[in-house]
Amino acid sequence: MRQTDRVTTTTDQIDEALAAARQHYVDRRPKTRALHEAAVGLLPGGNTRTVLYHPPFPIRIGRAEGSRLEDVDGHEYVDLLGNFSAGLYGHSDPVIAEAVTGALGQGIGPGAHTAREVAMAHALCERFPTIERVRFTNSGTEANLMALAAARAYTGRDRSLAFRGGYHGGLLSFPYDESPVNAPYDVVLGSYNDAEQAVRLIEQHADALAAVLVEPMLGAGGCIPGEPEFLRALRTACDQAGALLILDEVMTSRIGRAGTQPLLGIDADLTTLGKYLGGGFSFGAFGGRADVMAVFDPSSPTALPHAGTFNNNLASMLAGHAGLTRVYTPEVAERHTARGDALRDRLNDVFGRAGAPYQVTGLGTLMTVHATTAPIRRVEDLAGADERLRELLFLELLDRGYYTAGRGYFALSLAVTDEQLDGFVTAVADAVA
Ligand code: PMP
Repeated sequence: MRQTDRVTTTTDQIDEALAAARQHYVDRRPKTRALHEAAVGLLPGGNTRTVLYHPPFPIRIGRAEGSRLEDVDGHEYVDLLGNFSAGLYGHSDPVIAEAVTGALGQGIGPGAHTAREVAMAHALCERFPTIERVRFTNSGTEANLMALAAARAYTGRDRSLAFRGGYHGGLLSFPYDESPVNAPYDVVLGSYNDAEQAVRLIEQHADALAAVLVEPMLGAGGCIPGEPEFLRALRTACDQAGALLILDEVMTSRIGRAGTQPLLGIDADLTTLGKYLGGGFSFGAFGGRADVMAVFDPSSPTALPHAGTFNNNLASMLAGHAGLTRVYTPEVAERHTARGDALRDRLNDVFGRAGAPYQVTGLGTLMTVHATTAPIRRVEDLAGADERLRELLFLELLDRGYYTAGRGYFALSLAVTDEQLDGFVTAVADAVA
């Protein structure tokens, strides 16, 4: 009885604290609110990218520079979200800015082949050793759709295995089940990090299975790292079944010197990329084994088509190339990954010492705060997390001048300084206290 009373009181306190934090948020943002109301009359819900929405209404940025954002009401934030990992270079990095200015002087979209896409392809193939041939797209979503198309054409099979919590793009996501807007592919779902079940599913569907599509870390699913034994088991089972292993490294290619494959000792047949690799501009890429990618060779009469007006647009080619070769070199990538790992350890230490019901999971500079202390190996483990506590922390951090995603995700850009990270750790400690 007493236990029930205590829990009820705590729940009420969380609700009250959240209501107060939301009201405080609204009171401080009259211009943001007015713009939101204008937007609602034009864009459904005032939004054109679902993930950016958060109640009571989302922040609206007026300007951004380096690691800083300023909203239309004049509040400043340290940008810890880095445009969901596409903003690795920070806002207006001079090397990127110079490359894009170069694009403006070269015609932007010449509607023909250029030397620029060759340079970009060279940079990617050199950096990511399992990519022997590569193709560009406009987004990570498209990269995954095209990689699946390649696998289906190459194997002559139709089905794919993906995992609950997997996010491979707006048209290919499996929060717990199929998203209602998914492209109509034949997909079987397994439980992430359950090697035994995955191997069983691969064997069971072997005759029809074209590919296994997996993220080395569930990204949008909560920055839940794949266990090496699980990912290696997929590799072996794919070989036995004659299916292709597609690693979605749209997020994780920033980890270490060359993404997760050298760290795990796994060679994917196909890899998909995106985000920061376009230097902050629209970008996606897929590539891998030369014999598989040959299905797109347009000089063959049986080639698969691969369309895209902007596939080789100069802004993405030039900014992406400059960023990868001159800014995010393998050495910088290793150091940046270590910074992220260290931050995660510090935050978990803060939560542990405060006895706060939070933990942070992730790899390198990609991480998500969860409002649960239970061990997390798959999205199913998040069922008990208290989303109100997560929103409360998000609003408390905004109020202290730190911008993260409403869902608890952040992705450190290169522009964020060690002093800003120290300030962030203090702010988190202060907020959970
Ligand atoms: N795959 C993963 C792992 C991603 O994180 C994302 C984007 N969050 C995508 C694919 C889709 O990329 P885009 O938003 O560029 O379509």
